[in-house]
Amino acid sequence: MTTRRHFIWLLPASGAALLSACSESAPPPSATAPEGAPASSAEYPVPAPAPEVAQTPATTGPMLEASDPTAVALGYVAVAAHADKSKFPNFVEGSACSNCTLYQGAIGSQAGPCPLFAGKQVAAAGWCASYARKAT
Ligand code: SF4
Repeated sequence: MTTRRHFIWLLPASGAALLSACSESAPPPSATAPEGAPASSAEYPVPAPAPEVAQTPATTGPMLEASDPTAVALGYVAVAAHADKSKFPNFVEGSACSNCTLYQGAIGSQAGPCPLFAGKQVAAAGWCASYARKAT
């Protein structure tokens, strides 16, 4: 059973042991690596740097041609006013790629990517049947 008296009796003995462990005559604690571990950090494999990941969609690429099969199917036109309103009655005046939710070009840009036409750019003034008004 530990009593206050027993603790007070142990205190000087513990202090003496601590002082002798920290004295300069005592050898420093072992700094060797555990068995099997590399001797220095230089032996640790250095991971390759992470590849750069594009944070924004590419803003370069050829312009989408109206003759592209997907463009034809979706009624894409480079100028929204030229949309075939009889074939695509969902066309609404004022709609254009630049205010479509799928348009990925920068604000004020003349052209930009659209996920429906990967690797190509659509005109900001363009339009297709998949148009969806961007939330304001
Ligand atoms: Fe333009 Fe939108 Fe059609 Fe893409 S989905 S071509 S941004 S109207």
